[in-house]
Amino acid sequence: MPDSSVPEEPSSISREIVELARMVRNAGKCVVLTGAGISTESGIPDFRSPGTGLWSQVDPMAVLSATAFRTKPEAFYQFILKLCETLQAAEPNDGHRALATLEEMGFVDVLVTQNIDGLHQRAGSKNVLEVHGHLRTGTCVKCGKTYEMGLVLDAVRRGELPKCSACRAMIKPDVVLFEDPLPIDFVLAQQAVVESDLLIAVGSSLEVAPVCYLPAMASHLAIINLMPTGYDSRADVVIRAKAGRALTALVDAVCLGSDGNGRSEQGNGRNGGSSIE
Ligand SMILES: [Zn+2]
Repeated sequence: MPDSSVPEEPSSISREIVELARMVRNAGKCVVLTGAGISTESGIPDFRSPGTGLWSQVDPMAVLSATAFRTKPEAFYQFILKLCETLQAAEPNDGHRALATLEEMGFVDVLVTQNIDGLHQRAGSKNVLEVHGHLRTGTCVKCGKTYEMGLVLDAVRRGELPKCSACRAMIKPDVVLFEDPLPIDFVLAQQAVVESDLLIAVGSSLEVAPVCYLPAMASHLAIINLMPTGYDSRADVVIRAKAGRALTALVDAVCLGSDGNGRSEQGNGRNGGSSIE
């Protein structure tokens, strides 16, 4: 009996990639949205896959909540310490690098990510909106002074709670916790998607609020994900493949002009491709 739980990468992947490459080349403005699926290829477990790695002992939604930060700061920070060490040990993969390349070539305008690992920036992406925040810095909950996360973690390693040097209030990591309000990056992401011609969703189930609302705002939608999503039926292109493999193939197709059509017939002003006449 075939095991339907492990999706095969279909042989039609190259045809879909060629179609997506054509859309990317024709789009005046392209936004990419990434989820946990792009970082699992760097060995970072998905928050929402219970029982994996760091999440095998704890419920991330309980420990990474605003309530936990307020009521059990020691346990909260012990978890943040472990989380930071796991994320810092991970390296960007082919998918992260391919998206940085597409941005550098002028084909990706804005990268919206649900991930807090910073791997897009480490791969070279510049215009990144982090809708769940990040772990590079922490901010005093009272006076707003910002601290490098390294300093915050040093205090945790000494067995102290990280306190602001100016006002002695707690320092909170700049990650969006469960129960936190939406960050400004989500508002900017919404605006970018509304103004875009193409949204490419990569490695996201598109089920988690608030990003689950973004695909509905896109004029054209492409999905790269191993598993089906609720938006597949309204997507222009669905590529059922791993992010690293699909995005590497996409870079090749875009920059070699292997879609067979050459540059955009509309002449949208892209200048990063290798097939400029
Ligand atoms: Zn302060």
